[in-house]
Amino acid sequence: MIEIAFDNSYARLPERLFAHQMPSPASDPALVVYNRDLAADLGLPDMTDAEATAVFSGSIVPDGAAPLAMAYAGHQFGGFVPALGDGRAILLGEVVDRHGIRQDIQLKGAGRTPFSRGGDGRAWLGPVLREYLVSEAMAALGVPTTRALAATLTGDPVYREGRLPGAIVTRVARSHLRVGTFQYFAARHDREGLQALTDHAIARHFPDAQNATDLLRAVVAAQAELIAQWMGLGFIHGVMNTDNSHIGGLTIDYGPCAFMDAYRPDMVFSSIDRHGRYAYGNQPQIAVWNMAQLATCLLPLIDPDQEKAIEIATEIVHDFEPQYQTAWLARFRAKLGLATAHDNDRDLIEGLLTRMAQGGADFTRTFHGLADGTARAEFAAPEAYDQWHTLWQARLASEVDPHETLRGANPAIIPRNHLIETAIWDAVAGDFTLFHKMLEATQSPFLANHPPELMAAPDADQRVTATFCG
Ligand code: AMP
Ligand code: MG
Ligand code: MG
Repeated sequence: MIEIAFDNSYARLPERLFAHQMPSPASDPALVVYNRDLAADLGLPDMTDAEATAVFSGSIVPDGAAPLAMAYAGHQFGGFVPALGDGRAILLGEVVDRHGIRQDIQLKGAGRTPFSRGGDGRAWLGPVLREYLVSEAMAALGVPTTRALAATLTGDPVYREGRLPGAIVTRVARSHLRVGTFQYFAARHDREGLQALTDHAIARHFPDAQNATDLLRAVVAAQAELIAQWMGLGFIHGVMNTDNSHIGGLTIDYGPCAFMDAYRPDMVFSSIDRHGRYAYGNQPQIAVWNMAQLATCLLPLIDPDQEKAIEIATEIVHDFEPQYQTAWLARFRAKLGLATAHDNDRDLIEGLLTRMAQGGADFTRTFHGLADGTARAEFAAPEAYDQWHTLWQARLASEVDPHETLRGANPAIIPRNHLIETAIWDAVAGDFTLFHKMLEATQSPFLANHPPELMAAPDADQRVTATFCG
């Protein structure tokens, strides 16, 4: 008997916020990876591989779990869908971790739920490995994110473009509340539901907040900080729909996401993002738009006088931009080794980015290479870099220890999209070597002693420019 000390606060909310749902049993479960460090942090009991396999494939539901699928709505590519919900994710329950933080444990790909609509409720191995690698890399990079606790194979086939191995990723997060969760209840004029959600969100993410106005302000601040972090890593989320916009400012839903190789502000990876709505350079504006949707939901709770509520909410949403700009500038200053602030720093940063875009310089390698002089080699026309380098050197004269700042701000390694693709197809063929190698290396992203092939930019024929939802 596996005993996990669940305490399921979401399951105690009004029943219309979710649907009770057991995971579907897997026919031949197998463990791909179990994050024992995270398990220990969560205070989970020591489990054998067999026990972990059973629990994280949904084959055994431990005592105390209250499996459920959450209701939510969402704007998908700008169009409102009033009922989405967890169509293939099942919240097993919540535990309070070693730091006293309440964490959701969720199985993604564990079968159909009342919110599955036409979907099969399943995931195949590819997106499961991508989420595992990228979310754990983001955590190691210090970016707020959901975590990956386990990946299992179900033994059941999943049909996408062909027959593929079914898999489940076990996701851990401070909550799974999204802008879309609020939209679900706002669209139904369910004020009581909204209030229950607001109280739950405050308890889990922003305990200092007193009311919906404070909550909105806190979410906007957290999202501004999050997007600045993404931008500083060349990260493209790919599907910033409101149902994938997290209330606690976590990165959530690693679908068609990717880190850029060559820097291009208009870069898009997602195969379904035909108009570039979620391009790298659009992410801050999209986050503002998502925050405006949250603000709209919260209006009835902000002030009984709706005109006044709109005024308050508008001001808070408009505050995203200056907060984002401040966070962006802080990130990119650090990326140039600047611990102090000078008036012209933005120009200096933009000067480098412009040259990078012109020359197709690799984002990660250029910034990491600033410290040791290898950045120059990333430019098709190194003379353009040389001009900038002179200005940068002059600015560095007023810094005490720029190398220390550079090292802490510029990772040597990120999980490269072309390598993730290779790792996925190797794994489908039964070979998980590259997956494990990448996972290990990306856990120490600021060290440079990794296999060179994991840190290299893709050749023209290795480049993978499209990613797909699971
Ligand atoms: P996503 O694009 O992953 O954010 O998912 C958008 C919505 O589609 C969510 O409500 C998901 O639960 C649902 N969904 C995605 N894939 C499936 C699937 N294979 N089966 C059922 N629902 C799904
Ligand atoms: Mg989603
Ligand atoms: Mg998804």
